[in-house]
Amino acid sequence: MISGNTFKIGIDMGGTKTEAVLLDTEDRLLFRKRIPTPGQEGYESILHSVYGLIRETCRMIPENAGYTIGIGIPGIIDSETRLVTNANTVCLTDRPFQDDLEALLNRPVRVENDANCFTLAESLKGAGKGYGLVFGIIMGTGCGGGICINGKIRKGMHGIAGEWGHFSVDTRGAACYCGRQGCVETKISGGGVEAAFYARYGARLTMTEILEGYRKGENRCRTAFLDFLEEFGRCLGGLISVLDPDAVVIGGGLSNMDELYGLGIQRVRRYAFHPNIRTPILKNQLGDSAGVFGAAWVGV
Ligand SMILES: [Zn+2]
Repeated sequence: MISGNTFKIGIDMGGTKTEAVLLDTEDRLLFRKRIPTPGQEGYESILHSVYGLIRETCRMIPENAGYTIGIGIPGIIDSETRLVTNANTVCLTDRPFQDDLEALLNRPVRVENDANCFTLAESLKGAGKGYGLVFGIIMGTGCGGGICINGKIRKGMHGIAGEWGHFSVDTRGAACYCGRQGCVETKISGGGVEAAFYARYGARLTMTEILEGYRKGENRCRTAFLDFLEEFGRCLGGLISVLDPDAVVIGGGLSNMDELYGLGIQRVRRYAFHPNIRTPILKNQLGDSAGVFGAAWVGV
């Protein structure tokens, strides 16, 4: 049970789609809807599409019932300036998204980083349930992370706790959109692996094609994929040495690759600063729903 007598609206804003759910007081799913995120049309259109989606979801709530609204975004709200920072959806950056939405709705909303929403959901009801300190990773087009301690998000002083995706691990590495070079994201995200493959071989393969090529024993794919697993081990092994979490839960498109939980974990063990690393490194249980359910629980 997450909370008492309140309905919960969760909104998960992604780069291409925005999803809404409505949960009742027992966390049962009452309503769910996905719409395309109007990415190219600018801030106002994103703001109004989220507003419209919330209004539509509100219509499913019984009259006089209390409800909360939580929103997961690919960025964070700076606690000092109240502006969105670190967003890879560029048109949200430096905008007072939370304040603008609260003004439109005339009620409070809680806005949280999408990787934090994922980690919260998996900690409360997914693979991380029952573990004290959970590190959640989203490995997809990009790479994000979040920390939950006993079912609560650890935000950190600047709201960036767990943001290992933009930890630079290679000063001579590929340029990252954040302005740094060789970020974890350039090494172990789908986009990063694809870009590295292109830089090395001049061929544009998707992460899925690289994985298939590796499984078939194709030389270039084999090299690229084994490099990727090595980087995964190095980045996560280092992180485990710093945080020593009780469990790591992996989400995002790359979390479906079985190799991560076999060869990948072998390499993590090699890089973490302990001779016998036992940290459970787990595949998520809530799948694509983790982000939007986490957003709903974040609003409480
Ligand atoms: Zn970066």
